[in-house]
Amino acid sequence: MGGFVEPNPHRWRNFQRVIFVCTGNICRSPYAEAVARRHGLVAMSCGVATQNGLPADPTAILEAERHGLDITTHRTTRWEDLYIQPGDVIVAAELRHAMAVRHKARERQCPVVLLSSLLPKKFTVLRDPYGRSQDEYERVFNLIDLSVGHLAQRMQGSSWRAADPWSLGSIVGKARSLAGQMFKELAGRVLVAFGAHRRLLKGKAVVVAFHSITAQKSGGALRCSVDDFERYCRFFARHLKLETLTQVVERLEAGTPMNGELVITFDDGYADNIELALPVLKRWSLPATFYITTGFIQSQTQAAWDTKAKLSSRWMDWAQVKTLAEAGHELGSHTVTHVNLATATEQEAESELRQSRDDIIMRTGLVPKHFAVPFGRAFPSLGQTADIARALGFRSVSLCRGGIVPGGANVMRIERWPINPAAYLSPYGWLLDVVRVSRSARIPVQTAT
Ligand SMILES: [Zn+2]
Repeated sequence: MGGFVEPNPHRWRNFQRVIFVCTGNICRSPYAEAVARRHGLVAMSCGVATQNGLPADPTAILEAERHGLDITTHRTTRWEDLYIQPGDVIVAAELRHAMAVRHKARERQCPVVLLSSLLPKKFTVLRDPYGRSQDEYERVFNLIDLSVGHLAQRMQGSSWRAADPWSLGSIVGKARSLAGQMFKELAGRVLVAFGAHRRLLKGKAVVVAFHSITAQKSGGALRCSVDDFERYCRFFARHLKLETLTQVVERLEAGTPMNGELVITFDDGYADNIELALPVLKRWSLPATFYITTGFIQSQTQAAWDTKAKLSSRWMDWAQVKTLAEAGHELGSHTVTHVNLATATEQEAESELRQSRDDIIMRTGLVPKHFAVPFGRAFPSLGQTADIARALGFRSVSLCRGGIVPGGANVMRIERWPINPAAYLSPYGWLLDVVRVSRSARIPVQTAT
């Protein structure tokens, strides 16, 4: 089990998110995710052999309910489709899951830990209860309660081993994590100083995604502080060639070579995009594409992810959406209700795309040319969604799960890179990761249609 035991205790508090992995993502991992959330952790789950968008196993739902947890709204996610980043810790139910995830995890610098290694008796196997008796479910879920409880203690730093922030272990841990970031920072600066990033990104483009821009501190990939946004925009303007999404889509359609162009996009339609992001974009003369969830505009809709972060959602009004277009930015559609297209019927998907397109046309007089998939993941019927989008006149469909756009990429499946400033000391470190991913990692190709 060499590499899959607990990391040093002082490292636990550096993790921002925990990702549970099992086989089908219908039983153990969704339950562990729910337990972790109850402990106040940011958690996700996925399966190494599953499809996207399936509900949890009914017996697991029942057993979770007996433990006071509701997993009825859970939907499965494939490991391949999950975007992971430095700051994530992967917790595998069994050794074979740890083996299955180790390459991508190593590439993104995320440690992999066995769930059972968090238990006092490290040899306990958290065997799959699927298809077994309710007693077996109960036994396994009790063990999950116990191990996730230990995990929460470690991540929240309340365990005796990590209690003292000035302990030698803590200092060494912080120094190590800082050393990793500093290395990237330095290597990124060397790369830029020699202009090597331009050569290394030849033939590719990078589409970055922002969501809310906030006056507060940055929080994950969904909230970027205005100071961090300014820092990234300054960096983009100085070191990369900015293009609009339409320009990059045209390059892809015409087979014109790409040269590391960068495209800036925003999702959802937050009011702070107008208040805080627009002035910065103007200062650096940067074009952007804004994907609008038309049902959110001018509404009090509270987004589930904001509720989870204890924030209230504030959306633009239509006059502000028009201001974006008048400032030269592109408008795109992000459905009407931010629907999960993985579980929507074909009719629902068609109606969401058509209505959002028509809303934008009616309110702004402009035809949106691009569509971004809500939640940004791929799913089995993505091909069908792309067909609907094409029939409605959209020229591109974007996901948001990390990765860059290689030459010859399918315009109906454009990968975007969500910016998470907390993962780097500065944009130089980010660019190093972009170059690394563009050189080493193949973009996960979805075969499902
Ligand atoms: Zn969204």
